Amino acid sequence: PALDAALNSLLTGEQPGVELITTLLSADAEQMPALFAAANGVRRLGVGEAVHLRAIVEFSNYCRKNCLYCGLRRDNKSLPRYRLTEQEIIEAVDNAAAMGFRTVVLQSGEDLYYTAANIARLIDRIKNKYDLAVTLSVGERGYADYKTWREAGADRYLLKQETVDEKLFQYLKPDSRLRERLQCLHWLKELGYQTGSGNMVGLPGQNPTTLAGDILFMRELEVEMAGIGPFLPHHDTPLKDAAPGGLELTLKTLAVARLCLPRAHLPATTALSTLTPGGRELALKSGANVIMPNLTPLHVRDKYLIYPQKSDIIEHPDRTLKNINKLLAELARPLAKDHGHACQITGR
Ligand code: SAM
Ligand code: SF4
Repeated sequence: PALDAALNSLLTGEQPGVELITTLLSADAEQMPALFAAANGVRRLGVGEAVHLRAIVEFSNYCRKNCLYCGLRRDNKSLPRYRLTEQEIIEAVDNAAAMGFRTVVLQSGEDLYYTAANIARLIDRIKNKYDLAVTLSVGERGYADYKTWREAGADRYLLKQETVDEKLFQYLKPDSRLRERLQCLHWLKELGYQTGSGNMVGLPGQNPTTLAGDILFMRELEVEMAGIGPFLPHHDTPLKDAAPGGLELTLKTLAVARLCLPRAHLPATTALSTLTPGGRELALKSGANVIMPNLTPLHVRDKYLIYPQKSDIIEHPDRTLKNINKLLAELARPLAKDHGHACQITGR
């Protein structure tokens, strides 16, 4: 009954708070179908039936940071490092364009080898060559860098807050400050980027109140995108013995995020497919409307190992697309043909 009441009050326009969200996150096996169905309904009304594809190109696995959860952390000496040249990145983008993608996401560790000017030139080349939306995801940089890239034509930026629990954040990201990361997000918004944030579910030390804080933060910021996936322990990190985030809690968090962010783009994350085969389908039925296929060249792909056994590590993009088409046919969901820009945030 508490869950039904919480769902009803949210669906009838009540402003969500911590208590309402933690009630929804506590849904048990019997209640979960109702939660997922409600999120699916809000997804349909908020962003429609179409599923958007974003091609991701992971162009460098060098990182100056030492996040406790991530395989790319600078202290991981057993990871062979790579950097793609500008030409190699353009070739990966050529492939994405030829395959019909309308968005490319350029992602890397925090690698200052690529200067603001280098990245601006890359964006400029892509924008001149193709009618593609460009999303960047290269971590925390200064206002001036973000401005340069926006002026060069970048449309979107992904920078997950990871967790808004300050203590947990500080422990997990020893060389970042939560305040500064949030400042970056505000700058991105101010510069007119369609801004994506997100969190990991099942981090050691996280609890439902923390997760509620993440969802409320994203709502407050009016994020245009939110990446929500399970934490997956990596064997060469200090968190190697931690338990992975659970499938059910991840799906519940995704569903509640959808209820609170009706117009945002929410991916069915690769981390979720890695955790459970079929995770992508479950996510698409619980509020997600985006899939991000990996277009990183195959010869380096296994080195972008943020967590082990990424589900797309050896899969050829043609095969990925085939699988996606099959899945969408089964779900009776069309593939979006447009760029999948942010939906206008209305009716809040
Ligand atoms: N370096 C940039 C940054 O941190 O924002 C972008 C690349 S980083 C690899 C992209 C995302 O990977 C992070 O936002 C984090 O949520 C995710 N990630 C890293 N390690 C992970 C793990 N062990 N399990 C799940 N997700 C992880
Ligand atoms: Fe670097 Fe990003 Fe991994 Fe942190 S999450 S170590 S910033 S790549």
